[in-house]
Amino acid sequence: MSTLLERYRSVRSALPPHVTLVAVSKTRGVAEIKALHDLGQRAFGENYPQELREKQPLLPQDIEWHFIGHLQRNKVKYIAPFVHLIHAVDSAELLDEIEKRAAALDRTIGILLQVHIAQEDTKHGLLFEEASAIVRTWDGVRWPHVELRGLMGMATNTEDGTIVHHEFVQLRILFDELAPLALALGQPFRTLSMGMSADAGIAVSAGSTMVRVGSALFGSRS
Ligand SMILES: *Cc1c(COP(=O)(O)O)cnc(C)c1O
Repeated sequence: MSTLLERYRSVRSALPPHVTLVAVSKTRGVAEIKALHDLGQRAFGENYPQELREKQPLLPQDIEWHFIGHLQRNKVKYIAPFVHLIHAVDSAELLDEIEKRAAALDRTIGILLQVHIAQEDTKHGLLFEEASAIVRTWDGVRWPHVELRGLMGMATNTEDGTIVHHEFVQLRILFDELAPLALALGQPFRTLSMGMSADAGIAVSAGSTMVRVGSALFGSRS
């Protein structure tokens, strides 16, 4: 059995320095998260608003919390006070709710638009043209407390690395096309969140700047 330190070193050393590692801590206890924080990790990702809301006050306040799961509008309020980046935004209505909560708290919340790249139709996300339309018509008057930081995607769950690579490259191409437009609108569009334990290497080779890794750090979820 490898130790947490060994797994952390091996995951981190496989990533180029410019790639941000988000440690996915859903279902993990406060002690496990604290142990990884003690080793220097600061960005953690969670999928369930209630779970995150319960854990956050019990953990070091310098943790940068990423919300990576599908977010329902009526749950935004639970995470709005402290969340650093919401990865899976897939509608203008969700943006309206994030704006409302951020404005009330007098803070700015960063978001990524989730784009559907997998073959499975179970995965959430915007079509390429929908994501493109939101970026092209980004409304700084409608969403002044929201920062458009980039895109996120999840590849098909398959052993076939060629399919996974192809899907990630498609998203990278869209990212490269939209980044200049978003930057021209004053948005810090620099993050491309793609890659998890099984496909982080492929994602990085396709241009990912942020990977979300759970089981390779903490062990498999039971
Ligand atoms: C659970 C999850 C991950 C991490 O998955 P692992 O296979 O444990 O690395 C990454 N992204 C999202 C959106 C997840 O739900």
